[in-house]
Amino acid sequence: MLDRLKEGLQSAIKKLIGATTVDEATVKEFVRDLQRTLLQADVNVKQVLEITSRIEKRALQEAPPLGLPRKDHIVKILYDELSSTLGTEAKIEIPLGRTYTVLLLGIQGSGKTTIAAKLARYFQKKGYRIGIVCADTYRPGALAQLTTLGKQIGVEVYGEEGSKDATGIAERGLKHFEGKNIVIIDTAGRHKEEKGLLEEMKEIASKITPDLTLLVVDGTIGQACYPQSEAFHKAVPVGGIIISKLDGAAKGGGALAAAAATGAKIFFIGTGERVDDLELFSPTRFVGRLLGLGDIKALLERARELELEADSKKMQRLMSGKMTIDDLYEQLEQMKKMGSIRKILELIPGFSQAPIPEEELEGLDEKLDKWRSIILSMTREERINPDIMNASRVRRVARGSGTSEKDVKDLLTRYRQTKDLMKASKGRAFRQLLKRLQQS
Ligand code: GDP
Ligand code: MG
Repeated sequence: MLDRLKEGLQSAIKKLIGATTVDEATVKEFVRDLQRTLLQADVNVKQVLEITSRIEKRALQEAPPLGLPRKDHIVKILYDELSSTLGTEAKIEIPLGRTYTVLLLGIQGSGKTTIAAKLARYFQKKGYRIGIVCADTYRPGALAQLTTLGKQIGVEVYGEEGSKDATGIAERGLKHFEGKNIVIIDTAGRHKEEKGLLEEMKEIASKITPDLTLLVVDGTIGQACYPQSEAFHKAVPVGGIIISKLDGAAKGGGALAAAAATGAKIFFIGTGERVDDLELFSPTRFVGRLLGLGDIKALLERARELELEADSKKMQRLMSGKMTIDDLYEQLEQMKKMGSIRKILELIPGFSQAPIPEEELEGLDEKLDKWRSIILSMTREERINPDIMNASRVRRVARGSGTSEKDVKDLLTRYRQTKDLMKASKGRAFRQLLKRLQQS
């Protein structure tokens, strides 16, 4: 599946790993290789540029955690960015004691009927009792096709040969399958365009109120998945998407990226014509496989360990009250990277409950800039041990940084407060902030 994309990505990685040094030129070439590969997979140009410019920026700016080779760090960045492009993993929770209904939609030929059987098979393997309803009253032989598939997997199919009342069939089908854990409803999708499809969906959905509505999109159409997915996502914010026919679809990468770009969650992917060719979609697992899972997993574990180690060493230092001005500077830089101060403050426990008045936030960014230049004017010794800052040192630093002595004193006060707070809370506040920064 997606062999060309896989080969392209893996050969870009191999080239990076094989390079003697990693400088700007190496990163740029790596990025160009990625761009070519992603474009070939029919990922939308704008999306390709967005993804790769994030990768380039991070690869050039981020320092790898201590002990992790720069090349490995760049591969990890690629993994992060590709996975997050594809969204987050979907979860389906089947309630006990009532029937969970799944409605399948999608234009004709997208793979709905095949997916109906695959889904039934998927849930059946998990031990659920399943029924399938054929509400396709349009395609000749639709019921026969579904019944054949149902027989293959031993799942009963409800349908009414000759009836044209799709909504009625769905309602009667649900009644017929009372007591089942899950009922899957296959529809006609006779409309080629998004608008008609949504009208049809609204009609059925208003009568049977499904628990989950899934749009089936043909993966072979690549980035053309976007308008279908978008129209659907706007109309049904709680539903999800299945991308079918990803086996041998040269444009499959583009299809996935386009669907995810609409904000819709991708629930499953169809990977072949057999009833077992369906998988629950997990962006991280999927990208791991694209990049070569075994290596990636080991790499990620190592990166995580090193990050934890660095974190915990720093924490121990901060908690024991040994915070330096450099630590404060690092925090300021982090904040700068995150953008707006308001956003940062909202992340800090305690602040979010009591919003800060607008006036107080004003000028904070300027203040940060001032502090940065003050810190840069301090000697290394002063930064490690700010207690030595006497009047003449304060004067020198103020002059050197183009600020006032009061500014320098303000910073030192803030430093002492932060240090005390850190010690008193045993680093909790800082650790929480770090954790949230990583998640956001
Ligand atoms: P529907 O009109 O939306 O119900 O689509 P169907 O389920 O009838 O599928 C249309 C065609 O696509 C059929 O020939 C299927 O065998 C084929 N198909 C469906 N899913 C897949 C898949 O994952 N891989 C491949 N290769 N073919 C598929
Ligand atoms: Mg069908």
